[in-house]
Parts: sequence; structure tokens; C-alpha cells
Amino acid sequence: MRTIRLFNTLTRSIEPVAPIEPGVVKVYNCGPTIYSFAHVGNLRTFLFQDLLRRVFASSGFDARFCMNLTDVEDKIIRDSQAELPADADNETRLKAMRAFTNQFEKSFLEDLDALRIQRPTHMPRATDYIPQMIRLIEGLEKNGLAYERDGSVYFRVSAFPGYGCLARLDRDGMKAGASVDADEYDRDSLSDFVLWKGTKPGEPWWESGWGRGRPGWHIECSAMSLELFGEYLDIHTGGIDLVFPHHENEIAQSEGLLGHQWVSHWVHGEHLMVEGEKMSKSLGNFYTLRDLRAKGVDPIVFRFAIQSNHYRKPYNFTFDGLGASEAALKRIRAFRRRMEDASAPGGGGDFKEPIDPSERIEQARGEFWNALCDDLNTPEALAALFTLITDLNAQDDRVLMTPDERGAALAFLDETDAVFAAWPKESRALDQEIESMIEARKATKTNKNWAEADKIREELKAMGIILEDRKDGSVAWHRE
Ligand SMILES: [Zn+2]
Repeated sequence: MRTIRLFNTLTRSIEPVAPIEPGVVKVYNCGPTIYSFAHVGNLRTFLFQDLLRRVFASSGFDARFCMNLTDVEDKIIRDSQAELPADADNETRLKAMRAFTNQFEKSFLEDLDALRIQRPTHMPRATDYIPQMIRLIEGLEKNGLAYERDGSVYFRVSAFPGYGCLARLDRDGMKAGASVDADEYDRDSLSDFVLWKGTKPGEPWWESGWGRGRPGWHIECSAMSLELFGEYLDIHTGGIDLVFPHHENEIAQSEGLLGHQWVSHWVHGEHLMVEGEKMSKSLGNFYTLRDLRAKGVDPIVFRFAIQSNHYRKPYNFTFDGLGASEAALKRIRAFRRRMEDASAPGGGGDFKEPIDPSERIEQARGEFWNALCDDLNTPEALAALFTLITDLNAQDDRVLMTPDERGAALAFLDETDAVFAAWPKESRALDQEIESMIEARKATKTNKNWAEADKIREELKAMGIILEDRKDGSVAWHRE
């Protein structure tokens, strides 16, 4: 098992992750509000979480990841209830909200699949955990950290001395920041935040000891994490914009209940800019994955573009940049084809300074994992891979690599693809289908049925397969 070191927002330093239960890493990731399609900025966060999971899983850990779906909040309520009559009963309102969020849950899962983001171990929906949230708030009340005002319940920040430790706020700054959080009616102090919101006319509600209402956003993550992972969490992640107030409030809620430190490592992904500017609908630079696909962008090229950049560096998304990512991917895939195809031309060049490919692969493997284990340094990890590809291509030009050496190179490509998910082994079943079509085409050529041979060539092209007729009569193929 490798030691993985990550930047911890809590201590502002890079520290080794030492799970409470050896070998099992429990990670809670703030997931999407399923109110609309995820935009590329959200997707960057989910890709960073996927990278984290794959690095742990590839390093021998039992990586248990939770990503919540927020399916109750102001905008969801507004848009899901708009069509309902004023006298609609609560059951109808809850159903309408579920139907509204179901469509965006579905589109979110489609995005995950298109980007090869592995499904989390747990994907809880907030509204399935209302009793747990109520129990947590009751516990905070008992600990003197929460109070009720007109059917809503608030967290009393002044009663929790550790407040501000993650965002490193001074109390004055904290109050100024917190006052931005609207929709909280009668708090004792501006910095107090809502745990439970008393219902308003036209809203769906749940019954509680404080009357009918619904949970605040922050309490959702604390309640679901405690329920699914218990009272110690190894890592909690999210976008950098969640540090304050969301994660600060999560700490106050969870630790206010538990009475001890809750999360060992807080890990945050940086923002994404689009063409040098902050993404916004008014600037017209607001993209969902659907928008990118409509512009002809391959989701895996987008994935690779994001993963090539360090997760803690701001990333400037540009369409030109995608071109460079596509070219880089092509290089890796072409190298894979070369290693897979033992009949490809090679060798016969100058025998200058031959290297030992197996040794060279071992060196690259060491560099690759050292980089990833050092705070997920993907640019350095990829540099190790690209240098290896350059060296082995040059080597293979001069001295044809042996089947064993090719096998070792392919094994390393599989190992690196387990993290980057962008240069997988082509499916064998499909390969067999392609091979049999090529055989059929050979037969048509032997029979001088050129029209049929061309037809098969076109069919393969439609499948993204390019044929290469070699002088010796053999046929090689590769994917576009
Ligand atoms: Zn959260």
C-alpha cells in the first residue's frame, strides 16, 4: 500500500493520509444540487474527486467514497412547485419535487458515465435522510448549540469556540461573510446559520419537534456523513468555494454533536475559468457537458484536459487547450497501438545508445506514482509517461522491442489508465468483430469484388476504424 500525501486545508500543509481504519479510506464529497445540468466548473470538482478515488484504489486501499445529491433547496422548491395549485397537499408537493430532481439526477449520472467518473460507493439523496438530520439538530439543541425561533432552528456560532478554524476567519470577518447568507429570518446573531427552516406557504414540508419545515443545506452533509461513515472521516472534499461557509458550518454541526475532531483531511479543488473569465450565464461562457458535445468535444478529451492540470491550480478552460489535450491523447493511444501490434514496422535503425526498455518502464512507474502520491501531481505523472513514450518509440525505431518488453509497456499503460481512464485497452469482443470484417473484405478482394471490399471499408470507417493495406498484402487497422 502506498502512502498518499495531500494538501490539508485545515493545516495548510501537505500531509500523509493515515486512515483511522488501516487500509480503508472513507471520503465524503460534497455532490451536486440536482436543480439543473452540471456545468464544467462542477464537473472539474467531480473529476478531481474521481482522480482521488482512483489513486487510492490503485494504491491498494479499500476506497469508500460518498457523494451526496442535494434534492431540496430554495430553487428546487420554487421551480418544482410553480405549476401546482395553491391548495395542493403536501404529498403532491413532495412528489412534484422528487419528479423534478429525478430528471437532473438522471442527467448527472449520464454525465458521470460519459466522463468515466466511477459511481461513488454511496450516493445518498438528502430527502432520504430527514430523520437523521432532525436527530442531529436535536443533539445540538441538547448540547446548547442550537435554538429555535418561530419554527426555525439556528446554530449558535458564539457557543462553538472552534468556529472559523478551517477558513481561518477572525470573528469580525466571519460576521461580515456570514451575513451574505440570506433566507434566515430571526437569528440572534448575524453569524448564526440555519439548521431547520420553518415552512412557508406553498412549500413541501416534513414534521418535526419544531413544527413543519425542511432542513438547511449545511446539515444535510453532516447528517449523511455521520450516518454512512460514522463519527470519524478520513477525508472530506469539495470545491474551494465551499470552505466557507458550508464546510465551516459542517464542522460546527458534526463536532458540536460529537465533541471531538471529525475530519482528518480537508481537500479542496480549485476553480475553473472559461477563456480567462469567470464562468457566468450572462457572459455566454457557461457550458454544460451537453454544450461541449454539441460543439463536437469528446467528453474524454475534456476529462483528460482537466486531469492534466493540478487540482489545486486554477484551470483556464479554452477550446484551443482542448486541441492540445486531444493531440496528447492521440500520442498515448498511438503508442498503445504500436505496442499491441507486433507486426508494426520497427527496428533496423541506427544502433546508437540502446536502452533497456524494462528498466526504463520501471523508472517511469516509480516517477509516475511518486508524483501522484505527492498531492496528486498529475502534470508530473504524465510527464513521466510522455518521456517514456518518447524513449520507447525511439528505441523501437532502432531495435525492435521484444514481446515481453511490449507486454511490460502495455501493462504500464493499463496501470496508468486505471487512473486517467483515457487510453483503455480496446475491447476484445469488438476487435474480433473488426477482424472478422477484415477477413471478409480480404475474401472479396481475392474474388476481385472491389465494390464489396470498399463497402466493408466504409462500414468500418463508420465504426471509427481506419484500414491500412500494406504492400505485403496484410491489413493493419487502427481507431480514428
Ligand atoms: Zn456538503
